[in-house]
Amino acid sequence: MGKKKISNEQIVTHLGDDYKKFHGAVVPPIYENSLFIYETFEEFTEAMESEHSNYLYWRGTNPTVEIAEQKIALLEKGEKCKLFSSGMAAISAAILSFVKTGEHVLSISNIYGPTTKLFKYLEKFGITHTNINSKKIDVIEAHIKPNTRLIYLESPTTMNFQIVNLPEITELAKQKGLHTIIDNSWATPIFQNPIEFGVDVVVHSASKYLGGHSDLVGGALITSESLMERIFYNEYQLLGGVMPPYEAWLLMRGLRTLPIRMKAHQESASKVAAFLETHQTVKKVNYPGLTSAPDFELGKRMLKGYSGLLSFEIVSKEFESIREVINALEQFNIGVSWGGFESLVLSPNNGQNYEQLIENNIDPGLIRISVGLESEEELIKDLDQALLSI
Ligand SMILES: *Cc1c(COP(=O)(O)O)cnc(C)c1O
Repeated sequence: MGKKKISNEQIVTHLGDDYKKFHGAVVPPIYENSLFIYETFEEFTEAMESEHSNYLYWRGTNPTVEIAEQKIALLEKGEKCKLFSSGMAAISAAILSFVKTGEHVLSISNIYGPTTKLFKYLEKFGITHTNINSKKIDVIEAHIKPNTRLIYLESPTTMNFQIVNLPEITELAKQKGLHTIIDNSWATPIFQNPIEFGVDVVVHSASKYLGGHSDLVGGALITSESLMERIFYNEYQLLGGVMPPYEAWLLMRGLRTLPIRMKAHQESASKVAAFLETHQTVKKVNYPGLTSAPDFELGKRMLKGYSGLLSFEIVSKEFESIREVINALEQFNIGVSWGGFESLVLSPNNGQNYEQLIENNIDPGLIRISVGLESEEELIKDLDQALLSI
């Protein structure tokens, strides 16, 4: 593609769809075949030499999956993308590609729960991990050990949606010879492109906004061509958590509307956040799109927009109040995940983990909502009645 500017809208609607190749089909077909056959053994052996650029077997490349990968790579302004069977498969592959026994990973602020569990799991292979709650660059630098290889990031962070200064951290990482990975699921490539700020690898849970319809689980990894070649022959093919073509086809369908969905999520969520901020039962709203957010100015340097996932802290820290608000909501369904068409609610407070919440810098009164594509007036009315019930 070179340096030619191409819009996100053009990428999701037509790019790579290859109408000529597929008899003018307006939607590329699903290649539901596990292997590809060759006419001669010479052609086959030649193709085997570079499996990343030939079709041989589904655990490597597939034409349907490849179209979705091409679109996501361009949206993220990265050279290459590979799709995985889940966000966690992409995250595991990314982390394992950089560390080995005896090495150390540093993560900053609140990271997605299962990713933190993965770091604990990796201890059995002699890979250690430190998470620091400070975002200050000198504190981060002070926690870099001689065996640190990787800085793992999320921005905005999980649950409290704080902004991390990406250019500052990647500059430090480069000085120290460390690699950086960021989970960019919250912002999506529409609202943030971390590769532009020097991050080496971007990962996504495609199960959230990229898919957008709560009908698929998948992951994406975006990086340079050279890093990807290494990851393809190692963590991608050997751990084998690859995206099946049907999921890639669903993902492509979701991607078609990603730019307009994100616009709609942003519009509703900003109004919901502004409403919550004025509510007498609410003490704090964690949403980097609010001009009153402590990180608003910093966030503006990296984010082109704000998605629909946010949290707020009710004045009462009692589990009973949390339970009542969540049960009183009618438009917000109770469930894990986020980023789909439907509004969702949950709280990390389960009534028995007060100390753990404090330790993780999470207010016990915190409720997380994913603002879906329903009417924002109805969502606001619903939040109002639920909050007034306590
Ligand atoms: C859901 C999620 C993941 C994991 O993705 P899966 O597709 O569920 O494996 C990773 N990071 C964040 C921020 C998530 O919300």
